[in-house]
Amino acid sequence: MSHVCHAWNCAKVVAPEFLFCPPHWRMTPRVTQRLVWALYRPGQEIDKRPTRAYLIIQAYAVTEVAIKDGLDPEKAVGEILWPVVERYQSTITDARELALLRKVLPRL
Ligand SMILES: [Zn+2]
Repeated sequence: MSHVCHAWNCAKVVAPEFLFCPPHWRMTPRVTQRLVWALYRPGQEIDKRPTRAYLIIQAYAVTEVAIKDGLDPEKAVGEILWPVVERYQSTITDARELALLRKVLPRL
């Protein structure tokens, strides 16, 4: 099964460990890029068990890039980011993960 770029409206095939295709990755702010890799666990794409913190930073990155791609910011935050944050934020207890996520989501 092929793995596709997670960006909004993108279907480019990318290696399983990558979140986005190269053009979408280049649109991702550096701080977010660093957080994606900081919260990535090697092998998560194989066992399909990313951490909840990774799922939140993934949704954050997808939201940022979707807004740059022209999706209405309110719609992007409301439909992409917020449902994931709401679902997982209270389940993250790892202090390192929380500290990393708070770099972009200070109210977590
Ligand atoms: Zn893409």
